[in-house]
Amino acid sequence: MLNTIKTDEHSPVMNTYGRFPITLVKGKGSYVWDDKGKKYLDYTSGIATCSLGHVPDKVQAALEEQLHTLWHCSNLYHIPIQEKLANILAENSIFDGAFFCNSGAEANEAAIKLAKKYAKGQGNEERTEIVTFKRSFHGRTGTTLAATAQEKIHQGFTPVTSGFRYLSFNDEAALEQIDNGKTTAVLLELVQGEGGVNVAKVDWVKKLAALCKEKDILLMLDEVQTGIGRTGSLFAYEQFDFEPDVITLAKGLGGGFPIGALLAKEKAAAAFTPGTHGSTFGGNPLASTAGYATVNAILEGNILEHVKKVEHFILNKLYDLQQEYPVIEEIKGIGLLLGLEMKNGAAEYITALRERDVLVLSAGEKVLRILPPLTTSEKEAAEFIAAFQEVLEEKKN
Ligand SMILES: *Cc1c(COP(=O)(O)O)cnc(C)c1O
Repeated sequence: MLNTIKTDEHSPVMNTYGRFPITLVKGKGSYVWDDKGKKYLDYTSGIATCSLGHVPDKVQAALEEQLHTLWHCSNLYHIPIQEKLANILAENSIFDGAFFCNSGAEANEAAIKLAKKYAKGQGNEERTEIVTFKRSFHGRTGTTLAATAQEKIHQGFTPVTSGFRYLSFNDEAALEQIDNGKTTAVLLELVQGEGGVNVAKVDWVKKLAALCKEKDILLMLDEVQTGIGRTGSLFAYEQFDFEPDVITLAKGLGGGFPIGALLAKEKAAAAFTPGTHGSTFGGNPLASTAGYATVNAILEGNILEHVKKVEHFILNKLYDLQQEYPVIEEIKGIGLLLGLEMKNGAAEYITALRERDVLVLSAGEKVLRILPPLTTSEKEAAEFIAAFQEVLEEKKN
């Protein structure tokens, strides 16, 4: 039956993605199957989304129960499971308030609105600008594409929304340009996921945080990709020794179910009052159930400790491979958000790995991005390493 569905260039699905030539129809744990029954090791996790692997038992059970109870009721009513999700996030972070939406871009839209509203509430009417960083990625909506400091994302969509100022990532000199008297917030990824798996320097971020605090500029982290255990702590900021005012979440939050969130400290959260922001679907009973079950499973299953263990296992093997194969120019990332800068670009390695039934991604032209489920075993990691070594050996000549 599936063979009768058109997936070629005649498909009515718009052509917004350069799709890989496979059709995935089933998943369990770290593996997915295509429509011909072929099994792949999925080290993309649906772009850092299926953190507990595919169709994780605990989230499946929670969703099945909710399917029989209530799917949707809108935010005009209290939603107990949404409260529970907000509580577990607040209890395990430095934040006091949560707003729920459906995606990463929407979470960043909410953060951008919150920053503007916050400045006005402080009597800083002139503070309307938000600083973001080169090679960042914050989403594809009209405003988040403008927040994204990459020319190729803006192309064809000018004039992009105004009010963003772009500075260099990890650059000392950029710190002097943060406050120009008009800045209300800084929006930053601690690990630039789409932009090449670039990790922020701890000292630089700490200086940035101190500066923001001094000037009453909100420090907002885009943890859409780094959040919910991806880096080996529930949130990446925990490993950087400073406190952000606001973070945004999405990808890993629902274990594969679409949900996004904005978390904020009280002083910023207070800027949103009834009628200032909203979302029809945001945090609905099904999405909140997936979110709560996912976060709970990560915390109760000691998954964060496991991520660090597997990270060390993979990194050690990768450093060994780098000794042997200098085409690996750089190994980057934290936790299970890892990047390999490949001398001749990442594309040919991604294809060759797929031919060996292993799925990985790129981050820009040169970086091969590895995003295993947080639950992946050392055995599976060894399977990835073995396939990668074969590919490196094959391409050596
Ligand atoms: C994926 C991503 C987004 C956009 O999320 P969507 O759910 O696709 O809107 C924003 N920021 C970062 C850091 C991301 O990785």
